[in-house]
Amino acid sequence: MTRYLYAAAATALIACTISFPAAADTLVHNVDGITVGEDGDIERFDALVFDDEGRITQVLERGEDRPDGLDYAIDGKGQVMLPGMIDAHVHVMDIGFAALTLDLSDTQSLEEALERIAQFAQDNPGRPWILGRGWNQETWGLGRFPTAAELDAVVPDRPVWLERADNHANWGNSLALEQAGITADTPDPEGGRIIRDANGDPTGVFVDNASALVGDFVPEPRPEDRDAAFAKAQERLLDYGVTAVADMGTTIADWHTFRRAGDKGRLTVRIMAYADSPETLETIAGPSPTPWLYEDRLRFNGVKLYLDGALGSRGATLKEPYADAPDTTGLALLTPAQLRNRMSRAAMSGFQTAIHAIGDAANAEVLNAVEELSESYSGDRRWRVEHAQIVDVADLPRFGDHGIIASMQPLHQTSDRSMAEARLEEDRLGGAYAWRSILEAGGRLAFGSDAPVEPADPFAGIAVAISRTDAEGEPFGGWRPQETVSREQALDAFTAAAAYAGFADGRFGRLVPGERADFLLVDRDPLLASPQDIRATDIGQVWIGGRRVR
Ligand SMILES: [Zn+2]
Repeated sequence: MTRYLYAAAATALIACTISFPAAADTLVHNVDGITVGEDGDIERFDALVFDDEGRITQVLERGEDRPDGLDYAIDGKGQVMLPGMIDAHVHVMDIGFAALTLDLSDTQSLEEALERIAQFAQDNPGRPWILGRGWNQETWGLGRFPTAAELDAVVPDRPVWLERADNHANWGNSLALEQAGITADTPDPEGGRIIRDANGDPTGVFVDNASALVGDFVPEPRPEDRDAAFAKAQERLLDYGVTAVADMGTTIADWHTFRRAGDKGRLTVRIMAYADSPETLETIAGPSPTPWLYEDRLRFNGVKLYLDGALGSRGATLKEPYADAPDTTGLALLTPAQLRNRMSRAAMSGFQTAIHAIGDAANAEVLNAVEELSESYSGDRRWRVEHAQIVDVADLPRFGDHGIIASMQPLHQTSDRSMAEARLEEDRLGGAYAWRSILEAGGRLAFGSDAPVEPADPFAGIAVAISRTDAEGEPFGGWRPQETVSREQALDAFTAAAAYAGFADGRFGRLVPGERADFLLVDRDPLLASPQDIRATDIGQVWIGGRRVR
């Protein structure tokens, strides 16, 4: 449950001016305040004041006089005050659904798994199906697949459907099989296998394509399931100090979930939404972006387009074949004509486009398209390239043209580096996760996590951005350390620049007068701490729009 605590509840009342009901000004003082200023430089301050609409009215330096007529004062007790972190690339609903699904990946035996399943079912009485993932009979030392009967013994009253750790098999109980109409007569589908006993009766496990025989009967999440997932996602984000996100691939159902939360006063985290398709965009927003709704908490900015896939599955499109698969250069998901068509359809209505491009060919193609479209669609477009992981060195300078924003995820660099080295020869890695080169070319950098693919932890992101090392400090000295950015640049990319990337500059992202009072109180200064210490940052308080939310 998200907690809204009015400033009044958490603070000492200084004075109550009954004759002036309007201006309730709150002072937060005795803080070590840090923000990225208008010109990109770091500004430090000692206190700030916000009004009853949660907008900052004053930022005070040490020794400056306190304003008169304050209603509340909060002693920051010397903690470090940072702007709320902004994650420029997440999948909000997936964060929530992943958190609500039973995770069996660390179970050591069938008995332990069954115990966990029983407990989960008991803890979630309202769920029509019990869904989970991560089991592996080999880790359990079982020597066979588990059975429906074993699940029936712990959950007899509802269908249970659990995905194996490798995604290549599923395990269901008898009710799940019954609802899907599975009997001994059900044939194995092409490319799939139903595990059976000596009599030919299905025992509960379905391999590869056979999984769809039951999986197709798992009900779509109900609105209340979506609401629960969204609440969970907000909780996770706030735990990491994230107060605003760009949601990449918003569906119609996702949008309705955000709106329901907004209507009921439960929308806490600010969301800049990018539709999963031009059709969704037109259905929801109509002829132009929505206004900012719910006090700058929600706006439909534009559309997310996928130009290629990922490097891991060799879906990313490359200029030359994969080093470890010389017969392929990846798979383009849009033709050049389709890409331009979709981009101009969005641009014509004043929408922003965010284009997923991972391989060097995909990135070159986006740059080509932006160059061409910029002639017809001038003005402040803020074309976004999502991921921009592998860029041909020759194309790096082009990120400085036409106000392009590279929306990148530092944590992908540490997760992917060995894989990237396998997929590409050394001389093709010159523009890999090339944060500094893009900044030096004059491009704008916005940082994010791609959660739930990576944890939505901006402090881990900052640590990677300044060191190119992982949580263990590997590799020593950093991977291609010439592409690290400064602490100031990393903080900017997770705050002010991420707001700019979503047309939210002037509203939030900086602690300056006129912007919303979205801030964190933490126990250390990321501009002074080591990467390992930054990862261990303790987030004491989270405030959004002048209200404490965590
Ligand atoms: Zn993503």
